[in-house]
Amino acid sequence: AATPDWARIRADFPLLQRQVHGKPLVYLDNANTGQKPAGVIEAVDAFYRRHNANVSRAVHALGTEATEAYEASRAALARFIGTRGDEVVLCSGTTFAINLVAYSWALPRLKAGDVILVSRMEHHANIVPWQLVAERTGASVRVAEITPDGALDLDALQRAMTPEVKLLAVAHVSNVLGTVNPVREICREARRRGIVTVVDGSQAVPHMAVDVASIGCDFYAFTGHKMCGPTGTGVLWGRREHLLAMPPFLGGGEMIREVSFDGTVFNDPPHRFEAGTPNIAGFAGLRAAVDYLQGIGLDAIQAREAELLAHLTSVLDAAGGVRIIGRAPHKAAVVSFLVEGAHAHDLATLLDLEGVAVRSGQHCAHPLLQFYGVAATCRASVAFYNSHDEIDAFAAALHKVRRLLG
Ligand code: PMP
Repeated sequence: AATPDWARIRADFPLLQRQVHGKPLVYLDNANTGQKPAGVIEAVDAFYRRHNANVSRAVHALGTEATEAYEASRAALARFIGTRGDEVVLCSGTTFAINLVAYSWALPRLKAGDVILVSRMEHHANIVPWQLVAERTGASVRVAEITPDGALDLDALQRAMTPEVKLLAVAHVSNVLGTVNPVREICREARRRGIVTVVDGSQAVPHMAVDVASIGCDFYAFTGHKMCGPTGTGVLWGRREHLLAMPPFLGGGEMIREVSFDGTVFNDPPHRFEAGTPNIAGFAGLRAAVDYLQGIGLDAIQAREAELLAHLTSVLDAAGGVRIIGRAPHKAAVVSFLVEGAHAHDLATLLDLEGVAVRSGQHCAHPLLQFYGVAATCRASVAFYNSHDEIDAFAAALHKVRRLLG
């Protein structure tokens, strides 16, 4: 395939043209949320201008169009991750998706003595729901530790998979370290032991081709806003046999077949888990995002981001006095770092005045930062639409800011 024209692709993102504080924007906070290409913005706009109606309720033309747009988005998302539409629950994001597994799969099943295994590098969205389940069932949460370079300790993980473990929650890619975990091998080991696996794909789906069947997990969650889509959209993929066995987590319209005060018959999955009016316009936009990413090609995106990551890592290494947290051999383009003598928040604040957007803080991963004994990091996270020039601009801004801080 021909190499994509990255400058032309970058021009698809209107927001990247703007300035902040009188400087050209250098947006390096993509792990937090991604920017949107014009096609996605236009798809949301077109939905409201021409097709707006509720889904699955009205027989009129607009109702049919809205339902078709929503279901076409489900089908596109299913194809995107190599699965079928009836295994794809549309929801508001990863947080909702993981809570759905926690409340509908785990809560009715787990009991005192059971163990939920959670990796050290999880986002709070893949920790706190399990703590809530543990509290209510008497199960406990066990931590799968990492190595100092920020990889999962696979030997320790295997040893931790004792017979009490009923569920394993693990990120495909860490939002702090950038580590790409070998989820396929991990899920195979878990499956051999009858452990159900929940993979948090928030930071993977935007950056690499993901095929849930080849990963071999039981559940896979991701969020639309990090993959060029609108906020308030996301997906839970679950094996059909699990979804069929799960009671609903929220009750309301759309999720039922029949309601009477003697009892209610629930709809089939995935609709059983989609109570209430969904983010229809958002899913119209997310479908456009899927088309957009596939138009470029996930392999091309991954290769582009690997080059940008190498560049970003080398400018930080060359700067001196910079500690990168997370040096696992297999990484996505997320770099957490500390600068000698400078607080992460001060750095991020001064970088912002230079037009550079990075995140500072704990990145919703307190246990991970506790492991490294640091209160906060700065995090620069790259997307395919970033440029090598922007990484040089970031390096120059960092140099200037450090001089200011003395
Ligand atoms: N997991 C990971 C690894 C994430 O990076 C994020 C977003 N920062 C989430 C979960 C939560 O996603 P959302 O806020 O869209 O539900």
